[in-house]
Amino acid sequence: MDVFRYTCEACGQNLDLIYDYPAVRKAVSKTGLDRSGEKGIWRYAPLLPVSAVPRNLGIQVGGTPLADVTARFPDCRCRRLLVKDDTRNPSGSCKDRASEVALAHAGTLGQTRLIGASTGNAAASLACLSAWHGTEAIILVPAAAPAAKLVQIRQYGARMIPVAGNYDEAFDLAARLSDSLNLYNRNTGTNPVLCEGKKTAALEIAEQMRWEVPTKVLVPVGDGCILSGIHKGFTDLLNLGWTDRIPQLIAIQAEGSAAVANACRSGDSITAVEPGTVADSIAVSHPRDGLKALRAIRESGGFCLTVSDNEILDAQHKLARRSGIFTEPAAAAAAAGLEKMIIEDNVDAEDVIVLLATGSGLKDIPAAQRLLPEMRPYPADFGFLHDLLISHESAGVSPL
Ligand SMILES: *Cc1c(COP(=O)(O)O)cnc(C)c1O
Repeated sequence: MDVFRYTCEACGQNLDLIYDYPAVRKAVSKTGLDRSGEKGIWRYAPLLPVSAVPRNLGIQVGGTPLADVTARFPDCRCRRLLVKDDTRNPSGSCKDRASEVALAHAGTLGQTRLIGASTGNAAASLACLSAWHGTEAIILVPAAAPAAKLVQIRQYGARMIPVAGNYDEAFDLAARLSDSLNLYNRNTGTNPVLCEGKKTAALEIAEQMRWEVPTKVLVPVGDGCILSGIHKGFTDLLNLGWTDRIPQLIAIQAEGSAAVANACRSGDSITAVEPGTVADSIAVSHPRDGLKALRAIRESGGFCLTVSDNEILDAQHKLARRSGIFTEPAAAAAAAGLEKMIIEDNVDAEDVIVLLATGSGLKDIPAAQRLLPEMRPYPADFGFLHDLLISHESAGVSPL
């Protein structure tokens, strides 16, 4: 393959990668996955668009825990509630799944310079894994991205170009630069390989559940790449005959960035919005995989929900308190969606629900601080602290 075409030559729309499923079935069985010796995403290599699996020896993308938090959320009243903890990827978000496959794919094309635009996480991820693999990353970010993400990108040594514009402008510029300078394009949506990377979260969920598919998967949606990736993963498994259905995909968007949810409700095509939300990773004007996401939501019998910034920050704290999983606001949006479903009596007693925790709370500390009361230091005095703890204990509140 000399030239890799990212989008459809005829209509310019995004592409889907289709596999020769009978050939995959011959190459690997669901009980034979362990034979690869891989714990991360490369255990699914026969279902990924690269022929040579990178030798990682030390860094692991994917293979993240599926935490059972049913007992911690009695108010959910479902059969099981699970959190796919993708905060534990090397750069702290699920974007590593896509970057890792993109880097391997770029390698097969002989390209070692990659470019991408990002609201933060995709860039941090590309920077991290480029540092690991020894490739060059050029990153266009909106200058207003959270500071921790920008620092992360620079620490990894990527060439970061903050753009005095929004994500959508950075996105278009990166695409044009990729064309004119022949750089590998790691823009979400445009490059179908990224969706293939994201789908590995679905493959892992199914395998971790012993091929029993959950009834619902809650996915925070910005561009819609994660959600379409999850759909693709479950579709691949169904086509292989490893599972017997696709879960309902529930798309959660921020009220202030709800282009996909608006189209879901109205039945019309997607129109751009002016995004404004604390959840920067899902603040998107024009969803680059919106069409794929809409199709996935409809085909899976799912639906869309929107949540306010306060609901997101409440859910962030609740999830952290109850499960020890600290998520950034975009990921907490999925938890806020669950809260909404509970309030609206939209959870079935037989539901097995998976919540996708897409990114770490450490990526945006100012956001996580917003709803926490301010704290002042106590006197460094034993008697004082002793009495303080006793008084809190008797009042039945935690000293912290
Ligand atoms: C990118 C991202 C999302 C949204 O994914 P899309 O593919 O843009 O819909 C959600 N949460 C986090 C933490 C992300 O980094």
